[in-house]
Amino acid sequence: MTASARSYAASGIAAGQRIVTTYDVGPFVAGAALAAFDRIGLCHIPVGTGNTERLMLAVDALGPEAAVLTPSYAAYLVEWAAERSFDLQGSSVERILVAGEPGGGEPTFRAKLEEGWGARATEAMGIGDIGPSLWGECEEQKGMHLGARGFVHAELIEPETGVALELDDGATGELVLTHLQHRAAPLLRFRTRDHVEVRMSPCKCGRTSPRVRCIGRTDDMLIVRGVNVFPSAVREVVSAFAPEVSGNILVKPQAAGVKQEPPLPVSVELARGTTADDALAAAIRDRLRNVLVVQTRVDLVPWGSLRRSDYKSTLVEHY
Ligand SMILES: [Zn+2]
Repeated sequence: MTASARSYAASGIAAGQRIVTTYDVGPFVAGAALAAFDRIGLCHIPVGTGNTERLMLAVDALGPEAAVLTPSYAAYLVEWAAERSFDLQGSSVERILVAGEPGGGEPTFRAKLEEGWGARATEAMGIGDIGPSLWGECEEQKGMHLGARGFVHAELIEPETGVALELDDGATGELVLTHLQHRAAPLLRFRTRDHVEVRMSPCKCGRTSPRVRCIGRTDDMLIVRGVNVFPSAVREVVSAFAPEVSGNILVKPQAAGVKQEPPLPVSVELARGTTADDALAAAIRDRLRNVLVVQTRVDLVPWGSLRRSDYKSTLVEHY
């Protein structure tokens, strides 16, 4: 709870403010988050998932300063509001705290959320096995600080070999966590499957704990001709083609398993009212090759054809 409170408080939310939350989770995780909001001194408005109308009514009627949700749901709500002429940018929400999947720390995706909500977006990250919201981003938006310092020990490893890596500025690898304080079932060197980039340089906010940015889940990672490809990184590159594209993508590997032969098929959803054109597909393909060193086949699909989520997005679908 202390760790979660530190992580969420890093975002700048303060005692006396109202926060609307959208998570439907088990008693352990939900309870800890609830207690964290209490501890910060927030007025907690729990709404849960699956009822967007009720959530937006709560935003409209109760005037929360902050909202907690997954980045996918935050992005969906921007579209939802635009379709109904709901003034999301003019709402009371000043901060959105996103967690549950990568996205909130990706510059293009974050910019889209911040513009759509007229709010500052910061991210938090935890893992059910170890604890909720262990990491939380501060107002500098330069990665998530380890709020659970003293409760959890963080290490970085090379995922293929398990070799430990130094926590140096810019180092990337899989995050491994160990409980330092846990009464029931402490875990030692638990592999999170989260692939992160570490930042150790001093943060302007004054917090001294290490920071991470989640690049993707090792579970979602594909290897194309020896190159690691994270679907969330593909989405980030594609999102830069807005307003031609909606920002929704689906990677469709041809073969079972992690290793794939190029070109890797990627469905890219067009923005509303945009029609497919070969030059756009070629430009996206070239950018993906230059940035991620991966050969793709870009299929432009119409607006609304890829599934939205009020929880976590599916970015990979095997044939
Ligand atoms: Zn900071």
